[in-house]
Amino acid sequence: MAKQTPMMEQYLKIKAQYEDAFLFFRLGDFYELFFEDAKKAAKELEITLTSRGKGEDGIPMCGVPYHAAEQYISVLIKKGYKIAICEQTEDPQQAKGVVRREVVQVITPGTVMDGKMLAENENNYLLSVSAFSGERFGLAAVDMTTGEFSVTVLRSGGLERLLQEVAVFRPKEVVLSSAFPEAGRALLQQRLGVTLSFEEELTADEGADHLLQQINEQEAREPGKRLLRYLLRTTMRSLDHLQPAAYFLPDEYMGMDVHSKRNLELLETLREKKKQGSLLWILDETETAMGGRLLKQWLERPLVSRQLIEQRHSLVETLIERFFEREQLKELLSGVYDLERLSGKVAFGNVNARDLIQLKRSLREVPKIFQTVKTLGNAFAAGIIAGADECRPLHDLLESSIQEEPPVSITEGNIMKDGYHKELDQYRDAMRNGKTWIAQLEQKERQETGIKSLKVGFNKVFGYYIEVTRANLANLPEGRYERKQTLANAERYITEELKEKEALILEAEEKSGKLEYELFMEIREQIKTFIRPLQELAAVISTLDVLQGFAEAAEKYHYIKPEVKAGGDVKIIGGRHPVVERMIDAGSYVANDIELTSDKQMLLITGPNMAGKSTYMRQLALIAVMAQVGSFVPAASAKLPVFDQIFTRIGAADDLAQGQSTFMVEMLETRQAVVNATKNSLILLDEIGRGTSTYDGMALAQAIIEYIHEDIGAKTLFSTHYHELTALEAKLPKLRNVHVSAMEEDDKVVFLHKVIDGAADRSYGIYVAELAELPPRLIGRAKEILTELETPQPSATVTMDVTAEERDKSTSEINEGTMQAASAAVEDYHQLTLFQDEVLVAGTRKTEKKLAAKERAVLEQLQSVNLLHVTPIEAIQLLDELQRKIR
Ligand code: ADP
Repeated sequence: MAKQTPMMEQYLKIKAQYEDAFLFFRLGDFYELFFEDAKKAAKELEITLTSRGKGEDGIPMCGVPYHAAEQYISVLIKKGYKIAICEQTEDPQQAKGVVRREVVQVITPGTVMDGKMLAENENNYLLSVSAFSGERFGLAAVDMTTGEFSVTVLRSGGLERLLQEVAVFRPKEVVLSSAFPEAGRALLQQRLGVTLSFEEELTADEGADHLLQQINEQEAREPGKRLLRYLLRTTMRSLDHLQPAAYFLPDEYMGMDVHSKRNLELLETLREKKKQGSLLWILDETETAMGGRLLKQWLERPLVSRQLIEQRHSLVETLIERFFEREQLKELLSGVYDLERLSGKVAFGNVNARDLIQLKRSLREVPKIFQTVKTLGNAFAAGIIAGADECRPLHDLLESSIQEEPPVSITEGNIMKDGYHKELDQYRDAMRNGKTWIAQLEQKERQETGIKSLKVGFNKVFGYYIEVTRANLANLPEGRYERKQTLANAERYITEELKEKEALILEAEEKSGKLEYELFMEIREQIKTFIRPLQELAAVISTLDVLQGFAEAAEKYHYIKPEVKAGGDVKIIGGRHPVVERMIDAGSYVANDIELTSDKQMLLITGPNMAGKSTYMRQLALIAVMAQVGSFVPAASAKLPVFDQIFTRIGAADDLAQGQSTFMVEMLETRQAVVNATKNSLILLDEIGRGTSTYDGMALAQAIIEYIHEDIGAKTLFSTHYHELTALEAKLPKLRNVHVSAMEEDDKVVFLHKVIDGAADRSYGIYVAELAELPPRLIGRAKEILTELETPQPSATVTMDVTAEERDKSTSEINEGTMQAASAAVEDYHQLTLFQDEVLVAGTRKTEKKLAAKERAVLEQLQSVNLLHVTPIEAIQLLDELQRKIR
């Protein structure tokens, strides 16, 4: 490479320190990017790639105007990139040689502070994790925009557990040490799509280490320190507004792995990733952005303390009863801006006067909000507001200082109110007096010269002037004014007095502008002392907001208060799926009951496709989540235990893109459940075993059911299309068959969506295919084949005349046989045909027939043959003999 110019040398030196970021290198009015950065950015930002210098030595280059940089930065951040902003840090006019340049901030997905790059209703967490021996992990999370900071240590569960806890925060960026295990890095990137950043430094820093003072555990401190170090290094600002780290215990919340949360569509839909269609969509009746964020946090972390759950329920109940107060509260909350983010902006130093007016207006509502809450007479609500500071002095400060409609810019004055500062008032007086004097001057001069069109004007270059049109020049007494500028049809003049006044006005303007800026900065400093109370206030307001939203949703959609008891039974009467009932025609949702007790801990759900099996299963999980976040639930009545964890394996997996086969995903999700569930957990397994061959799948399904039934004891809903499994009811005492009913009408199936006891008798697949409008000829053929298959084969017409006990015994024996030796074709046929009859007996269709005496004799003879001692020829002879007997 040819020798670089001094400026490019400077560039390369700086770039070497920011290898993992795009370096936005300020050159005049542009940020320029060079070399690989330029090539990549040109592609990502769809801007033109040019070249600095010609020919072979040309350096790839692209640039964005500095005033539009924000939008380009935002595009890169959304794509997970980091950007180092390198500014000119000395006046180019004064510079000797190359202008000094320094990186003033590194913007990363987890550290953006700019409101336009952040979703209002979403936290923006930056995480750090440290790995320790014994598969323990330290975890720290911070939201720079709100100041929230928490740490914990995960002592068990390995990487999967880590992933689960990390996912709760939905971070965009995770900071690691370069020693962090490769396997963990890959999982974080692939499964959660986060940007990885590295920070090796852990040395103490005065500006930030006090934030970890309350944390004693070394394994929690380490990721905390790494995070603070990283923040100081990238943002290059104070971390004043960060709250001291709080130690949180993940076990204080219901555990749900990433898959289950996605499957249940708590925050967004599985396929389209949209809010509409999710539980959040139903429950989000919040009025403030802070409330919106808190609701998401709650949905990510349902409670497991019955007491805390009931406290929330009690306030929701009160708010439903006290309609008037609730309406008032809503109204007041709607006037509260984002206190959390405002205090973040104050600390970060990018708050403007308009933000402060928002802050003031919000604070004005606070006493009214508290007053309304007090009148509710609810103990929990009173407790929430008890310790909160209304920040009255801050309100009063803003009220006395900042104008109602200030400009966005903080350098052009017009921010402060009159009367706030004496000196400022004096300047303003001078300005106003001067301007009045000038306005009066026009009147006076018109009168005295008799020139009606004479006017006094102002422009930036010449300042104030008196203008007389060319036609009137003759009427102007010689020497009255001093000539300043000649225009095509007018002359402009000044006078000594005008010059003096002008100087006074301009001086006052300059001084007042400067003073206003200083005063504004002072106020900003004063507000910093309110950051902590403001954050606490934000927490109070957002809690009230989410709970009033629950009351609103409960009333709108007719939810009821659930009764929650640790270790108790599930007894839901008339339960509904909160989202599906909103998506279909009003009133058409079919409510269903669910009962799960210690004697009836598993339900095996059968029924045609599209009947509503997975809706029924999700319904229970959603009702449980709703209850445990403190919301009312869609049911006529509901008794629920406190679930410690929910596991689901439902619906189509979307992990194919990540190279895992659907069946593998199915097994991984199932593994989560069987390894981690306890008897206090809820497991939902939908159509397990579908992704493999029939016997294989059925064997797995049965083994999973047995394992959960015997070894875990979790409350479980298991839907299946293997009707054969319904026979398990006889073997497993805590398992019951239920089915979603359907009816045949004029050769068409009608789904009733009603869940009733017992097993379903057929799967109606062809009718669903018909609904999906497969070609009529194909449907016709399927019906033919089905009839053929269902027509009893000669040996299958034989049904044993046995007692119920014997039947059960043989069922389970045959079941075991099914699992063990599914390969021999003859045996298969034998088992299946017998098996089918048994299932039919166990189900609703009773097709028992009497056996003729000769048939019984044949069976007995068949049974007595020891195949190990029979040659093939003898077997053929035996067959021939048996056949002749029953012809
Ligand atoms: P399955 O799991 O049995 O194939 P789904 O649970 O996916 O069936 O339900 C199919 C559709 O049936 C749902 O999308 C919904 O529109 C409707 N549905 C399910 N349950 C009910 C119900 N209880 N009341 C009304 N419609 C329902």
